[in-house]
Amino acid sequence: MVKLTWYGHAAWLVEFERHTVIIDPFLKDNPKSPVKPSDLKKIDFVVVTHTHSDHIGDAYEISKEKGAKLVSLYENIIEADKSGVKEENIAAMNIGTQVDFGGIKIGFVQAVHSANCTGTVITADNVTIYHAGDTGLFGDMKLIGEMYRPKVALLPIGGYFTMGPKEAAMAARMIKPEIAIPMHYGTWPPIDSNPREFQEILKGEVKVPILSPGETFIV
Ligand SMILES: [Zn+2]
Repeated sequence: MVKLTWYGHAAWLVEFERHTVIIDPFLKDNPKSPVKPSDLKKIDFVVVTHTHSDHIGDAYEISKEKGAKLVSLYENIIEADKSGVKEENIAAMNIGTQVDFGGIKIGFVQAVHSANCTGTVITADNVTIYHAGDTGLFGDMKLIGEMYRPKVALLPIGGYFTMGPKEAAMAARMIKPEIAIPMHYGTWPPIDSNPREFQEILKGEVKVPILSPGETFIV
């Protein structure tokens, strides 16, 4: 069983049986997040797709306070120790393959965006979650789907900075997850897209749960 809790925007708490991961923990300044970093309990890994403030958010603070491993691309976090993150908690990786952190594997994949953005594929308990980061549509999402066979794809649908509902639906068709959950919408006016549009396009093809911030989906 894997529990996925959406904190609004691209922030997700992923609770595997033994490992708890927070992805893109934009909490304090996130108008939709029902929690602040101090509300979090056990966090083992903080995974950051890129350094835009709506993604790296409170990553350093959470890593410091929870003793969690901070995982991102090299340039994104190599100087995190200057902000007080313990050196042994900095996993400065790059796009390529999943790294085994002892029962949980975390990898980065391409995303089409600025700021060195990536997607991330996280596998534990025989379940793979693909968080696409901020991205436009690109053909190699098919390859990500074939390579990692994610059960769940978390896809941005807000438009303006990322894919909109139509592009994200095309992405889901390429990735072929069992479940596709929309994210990165509704936070502020420019990204007020309609998740029902995404759901409607994929009707009968991919399961699309629409979550409210704070809601948990169990896989
Ligand atoms: Zn963003």
